[in-house]
Amino acid sequence: MSAPVSRARQGLTFERFLFDEAPDALLVYDVELGRFIDANPAAARLFECSIEELLAIGPEAIHRDDDETVDGVRMLIQETSNRALSGHHVMHELWLRTLKGNRRCCETRLVRLKGVSGRLIRVSYIDVTDRLQAQIALHEGKAVLAEMAKHSQAIVDNVLEAIVTADADGKIRSFNRAATKIFGYRADEVIGQNLSILMPQAEQARHQRHMSRYEATRRPHVIGVGREDFGRHKSGRVFPIFLSVAAIEGEGRPSYVGLIRDISQARDAQARIERLAFFDSLTGLSNRSALMDRIQACVAAMEQRGGHALLICADLDQFKSVNNTLGHGTGDQLLRSVGAKFAQCVEQDGCVARLGGDEFAILIDRLGPDAELAYQQASVWCQRLMQIVRDRHDLMGHEYRISASMGAAVFGGSGHAPEELLRRADMAMHQAKAESRDTYRFFDQALAEAARDKAALLNDLRLALPRGELVLAYQPQVDHAGRVHGAEALIRWKHAVRGLVSPGEFIPIAEQSGFVIEIGHWVLRQACDMLARWRRDSSTEKLSLAVNISATEFRDPDFVASLSRALAVSGADPRRLKLELTESVLAVDLAELAHKLTVLKQLGVSLSLDDFGTGYSSIAYLRELPLDQLKIDRSFIVDIANNRRDEVLVRGMVEMCKLLGLSVIVEGVETEAQRERLLACGCRSFQGYLTGRPMSADDLRARLATDTCEAA
Ligand code: C2E
Ligand code: MG
Ligand code: MG
Repeated sequence: MSAPVSRARQGLTFERFLFDEAPDALLVYDVELGRFIDANPAAARLFECSIEELLAIGPEAIHRDDDETVDGVRMLIQETSNRALSGHHVMHELWLRTLKGNRRCCETRLVRLKGVSGRLIRVSYIDVTDRLQAQIALHEGKAVLAEMAKHSQAIVDNVLEAIVTADADGKIRSFNRAATKIFGYRADEVIGQNLSILMPQAEQARHQRHMSRYEATRRPHVIGVGREDFGRHKSGRVFPIFLSVAAIEGEGRPSYVGLIRDISQARDAQARIERLAFFDSLTGLSNRSALMDRIQACVAAMEQRGGHALLICADLDQFKSVNNTLGHGTGDQLLRSVGAKFAQCVEQDGCVARLGGDEFAILIDRLGPDAELAYQQASVWCQRLMQIVRDRHDLMGHEYRISASMGAAVFGGSGHAPEELLRRADMAMHQAKAESRDTYRFFDQALAEAARDKAALLNDLRLALPRGELVLAYQPQVDHAGRVHGAEALIRWKHAVRGLVSPGEFIPIAEQSGFVIEIGHWVLRQACDMLARWRRDSSTEKLSLAVNISATEFRDPDFVASLSRALAVSGADPRRLKLELTESVLAVDLAELAHKLTVLKQLGVSLSLDDFGTGYSSIAYLRELPLDQLKIDRSFIVDIANNRRDEVLVRGMVEMCKLLGLSVIVEGVETEAQRERLLACGCRSFQGYLTGRPMSADDLRARLATDTCEAA
C-alpha cells in the first residue's frame, strides 16, 4: 500500500507539494485495485480519519447513503470511473459519509491521471455542506416568508376590521377590503391620499395635531390607546368607529397602522337593548321601570334644590270600545297618538311613560317651591293634558275623539318612594273615573281645591281695581269719652258674584303674589285724598287716618317715594296719616328698619305697631324704633272682663308705653264691660264694634255730625 504513495511522491515532488497543501480533499483512486492509493491531509480532515485509514478503504465506504445499497454504490463508482477514464471531466454533488458517520455534501470531481501507469483517477472533494445548508435555509426561509406574507394578506383581507396603514406624513399606504367596505372607497382611490379623507371635517384638525405631536415627542396620546371616534364614508355619512393606532418605527420616522371597526350596529343594538329594557315598544315612550328611575332621580334632585313635582296617572275613557269596534290595530294607533301628544306637550319638563294597556303616567319635575303655587301649576298641567286627549286623533284617515281620567299627586323632595307616589296618583285617577270621566282629581284634593280657589280669587282680584270693586271703609277710633279722633281705613272688596270679600281672605293672597303693592298704592292714594278732603272741613280737619301697610308693600323699594307722592299730590297733612305696621312687617334687619322708619318719620307721618302681642312682641322694637303708637290686639281683650291674666298683661303694656312715651289704642272693643276694664287699665283710646263698625266715609261724617250735636 505504501509503494504507490512513495512512487507518486518521488516522481512528482512539486505536484506532491501542491497535492499535500491543497485546501480541497484530494485522493487518488486506483480503478483496478478498487481503492484509494493516495490522499492529502485535507481529505483526512474531511472524512474524519487518518490518511492511512483512507487508503485502507474503498470509495464505497464513504460513498454510502442510507437509501442506497452497497451494490448500487459500487455500480455508480464504476460508471463514473469509466467516464473519467475515457477522458471526461466528471463532476457531481454527492452526499458522503465520513468515517465517523457524519453526512457531508461534496462537489466531487474525477479526472484521469495522465502520465502514470495504471488506471488512476484523481478525485477531489469540495465540502459544500454549509453552503448548501445556507441555500436550503435561504430557500426555506423565502418560502416561509412568502407563506407568511400570503397568510398575513389573507388575514388582512378577511378581517372585519378596516386596516389602514399610513406613512409619517399621514399618506395612506394600504387599505384592506374591510376598509373599502366600511369607508366606501376602493384602495386605489385612497392610497397616496391623506388619512383625513376618512374623517369628518371636525376631526381633521385634531388628528393632524395628534400626528405632529407624536412625531415631535414620541409621546403616545392616541397611539396604542383604543378609543371611540367618528369616521366619514365616501358618501359623506359620518358614523361611529372604534379606532386603535399602532406606530411602527422605521428609518427614523414612524409609520402608522390603524385598526378601525364600524360600531354603528353595536350602537344601534345597544340602543335597541336600552329601548327594550326602558321603553315601551308600542309607543316608544318610557316604560314603568324607566319612570320609576326618573321619579327616584326627581325626588333626589328636589331634596337638594327644593321645589315640587307632579305625577299624573292618565287612563283613557272607554278605550275598550275602540278596540272592540275599530279593532286592535286602530286601538294601538290611538295609544301611539295620545302618547306622542303627551310627549310633545311635556317636552323637557318631565317624562311620559306608558304603564300598560291604556294607562299612561306623566311626571312633571319643575313645579315651584311654594306648595300652593305648585298645586295651581299642577291644575294647569292636568287641564292641558286632558285637552290634548280630547283633541281630534287622526287614525288612518279616520277622526277619533276620546277623553281621559287623570289622577295627580303633587310631591316635594322628602324621601317619597316612587311606588308610593304612583299608588297615590293611581288612587286619584280611580276616584276621577268613579266620580265622572273626562276629569282629574288630586290625591290631596282639599289642598288642591284650596289652591285652585286661591288662584281664581287672585285672578278676580287683578280685575277688581280697574272694575272699581275696591273701596275703603272707615272704622272710628275714639277717646275715653267716646269722641271720634280718627279712623282706620279698612279695605273692602265688593265682588259681583262673591259678594263682600273680607281683606283677611284676599290680602294674604295678594301679598303672596306681590299684587298687594298695587293695592297698597291705591289705598294710600285714597287715604291721602280723604285726609285732604277732611282737612278742608273744620269738623274733620283734626281727624287722623290709620292705613295698614303689608310686609311686601313696606319692603318695596318704591314705598317711601310713592307715599310722599300720594301726600304731595293730594295735599294731605302728613301729621294726620298713621301707618299701621305689624310685627311681620318689621321682621327685617333692625338697623335698616330704623333707618327706613326714620325717613318715613321725616315725611311727618306717625307709626303705629298693629296687632301688638300676637307676634314676637319684642321689646327691642319699642326701644329701638321711632314708633308713636302701640295697638293692643283684640285677642287680649276678648275675655278681659273675666280673665285677670289678660287684664294684668294689658295694664303692663299700658305702663310700658307710658314709660317709653308711646300712645296706646285698643282694637276690637265690643262691650261696655271690656271698655270699663280697659279704662281701669289706663287705656284712653278705643276702636271696635262698641264705638263704631267700619263704615263708609259718608257714614263717618254723619257720625261726627251726631257726636257734635250730642256734645253741644
Ligand atoms: P287689622 O288692621 O287688625 O284690622 C282690624 C280688623 O278687626 C278689621 O278687620 C276690623 O273690621 C276688625 N274689627 C274691628 N273692630 C272689631 C270688633 O269689635 N270685633 C271684631 N271681631 N273685629 C273687629 P277687617 O276689616 O276684616 O281687616 C282684617 C285685616 O285685613 C286687617 O287687620 C288688616 O291687617 C288687613 N287689612 C284691612 N285693610 C287693609 C288695607 O287697606 N291694606 C292692608 N295691607 N291690609 C288691610
Ligand atoms: Mg290695622
Ligand atoms: Mg289689628
